[in-house]
Amino acid sequence: MSHDYGLELTSNSKVGWAFSLQRSESCIGATELCRRLCYGNGVRYQTAGQKAKRERNFRTVQLLLERGGPELLAENLVMLIDQARPRDWLTAKITGCATIVPWTVRIHDVGDFHSVEYVHAWLIAARSRPECAFWFYTRSFTQADVLALLGELARLENVQGWLSVDSDNYSAAILALCNAPTATWKLALLQDEDLDPDAIPSIAEVAKSIVSFPYHRSGRYVTPIRHKELTVCPAVTGAYELHNRVSEPKPCQACSFCLPALRR
Ligand code: SF4
Repeated sequence: MSHDYGLELTSNSKVGWAFSLQRSESCIGATELCRRLCYGNGVRYQTAGQKAKRERNFRTVQLLLERGGPELLAENLVMLIDQARPRDWLTAKITGCATIVPWTVRIHDVGDFHSVEYVHAWLIAARSRPECAFWFYTRSFTQADVLALLGELARLENVQGWLSVDSDNYSAAILALCNAPTATWKLALLQDEDLDPDAIPSIAEVAKSIVSFPYHRSGRYVTPIRHKELTVCPAVTGAYELHNRVSEPKPCQACSFCLPALRR
């Protein structure tokens, strides 16, 4: 009998540690636009090894949920989260110094929340590691039960949740944001070249904090739309160097705009 299971983190030169899942199974709220422009289509994400890792993660998530529910999956996620601790975590605790880089995990570099049970597992895991800063972007706001629990996750002090919007789904995102308790969600905008700039004021009216990602590929990006409520991601426009040095903060850790206030 073949056995190909196991959960693994990824680490990339922009965000640092992250967890990823196979898109075809997990992106339940994917829009046509995000399917077309997803950076997961890029060469770096399409190697056999990367694809196999995301598929294995998804298969393992489903197995653990089936055999032991959210609690069993959460136990395994916590083991992963602990692997993301900076190397000087213990000595920093003893000496009272700051760690060399912050302890952060981005939930999903690729993939999304696909079921209530899966969100529940992250809720348990994030609660049990309050010193780790988590953040996530999601388009899974079209399914009411998933969205309701995602709201709970996003309201934890050590978690920041972002509703991912584009020209295909921004009305649904505005609705989700307005129906949630205050300060649950912020908005992350995928700005493609066809985005109508007239949509920005209605988005900005409901969300006071919006991060914008002008569509980019191979170092080129579309001209960013400017608005007082929009913060254009500085990593897209080249303000931060992408790198793999373990002893220096990655761009997202240094910028921290998308992270929970815990780490600012
Ligand atoms: S705005 Fe900052 S934290 Fe958010 S994705 Fe860009 S670099 Fe990362």
